[in-house]
Amino acid sequence: MCINTYKLMKITEILAKAKETKVSFEVLPPLKGKSIQSLYNIIDQLMEFKPPFIDVTYHREDFEYKLMPSGYYEKVAIRKRPGTVGICASIMGKYNVEAVPHLICGGFKVEETENALIELAYLGVQNVLALRGDARKFEKTFVPEPGGHKYAIDMVKQMHDMNEGRYLDSDLHDAYKTNFCIGVAGYPEKHFEATSYRKDLQHLKNKIDAGGDYIVTQMFFDNKAFLKFVKDCREIGIQVPIIPGIKPLTKKSQLKTIPSTFYIDIPDELENEMEKCKTPEAEKQLGIEWCVQQSKELLKAGVPCLHYYTMGDVKTLGNVVRGVF
Ligand code: FAD
Repeated sequence: MCINTYKLMKITEILAKAKETKVSFEVLPPLKGKSIQSLYNIIDQLMEFKPPFIDVTYHREDFEYKLMPSGYYEKVAIRKRPGTVGICASIMGKYNVEAVPHLICGGFKVEETENALIELAYLGVQNVLALRGDARKFEKTFVPEPGGHKYAIDMVKQMHDMNEGRYLDSDLHDAYKTNFCIGVAGYPEKHFEATSYRKDLQHLKNKIDAGGDYIVTQMFFDNKAFLKFVKDCREIGIQVPIIPGIKPLTKKSQLKTIPSTFYIDIPDELENEMEKCKTPEAEKQLGIEWCVQQSKELLKAGVPCLHYYTMGDVKTLGNVVRGVF
């Protein structure tokens, strides 16, 4: 397998050259124990929409209590979806599209982050979404690894340094300058930990000033929130591309689970219509129609790319994208 048979491009170059709005996807690594073919089966279907890039999420090791043969429960570390880096390299080789690994601060010492970035550079992966990561199940708030980064901005700075040829070992001379295009996360409805929307926006601006090249947003169901966010970003001097992250609702139960998991609002109109649905098919159809409408409005507003969270449900997503274009 050779992964460098096509011209590698930064996300920012792809967006700058695009004559029309692009469509991209976020996929999850397979559950541990499943073959990568299960992910290929999903991507095979997504290729119909010619995505110039595909994001692959990163899943930190977490803890679970397991019943041991001794009869006692023990806390054991598990990583349910490993393989982000390898998956990205194989996606690039198999599909000739850019793969964007998500890299998180949680669980990494700064030296380990540097090693991961060197590995990505060797693999020809030059687009990375730099994230902090969330708290683990049994922690109330995010706890950085001892000797690890506290905020995403710290990883952005590290990547920016490597792009300038500055590594953690200050005695390295003429070190190779990496060429990372750095994506960061943005929150149209504010990140849940931020004390105010304005402060969160300023933290986002700081990430961009530190070297962030583009923004991908948390999902949202009300375009007004996204369009206001873009306007507010521009007003405080954020000039980089802002890519909306979108996902269709697929069932009534998500009216509760999505706001509590992602700290976002579901518009009253969508909630009321969903409550009226009598069958799972009707719920899914409503979610698709809402997402198609949302996407069409965003297209009209001139967004550079529509970035869909697949969350494993590629059939529904296919129906959305076919409905938009
Ligand atoms: P940060 O930018 O570090 O911000 C975290 C919080 O700290 C914010 O409230 C911010 O306002 C605040 N803050 C920042 N700087 C400062 C400062 N100097 N002082 C005080 N407060 C500050 N998680 C995963 O584990 N794996 C994934 O693959 C993944 N993919 C994602 C993709 C997207 C598009 C998005 C939007 C999120 C994703 N996440 C993922 C979730 C993300 O890790 C969480 O939302 C996390 O809680 C915050 O990450 P961040 O990079 O936005 O953090």
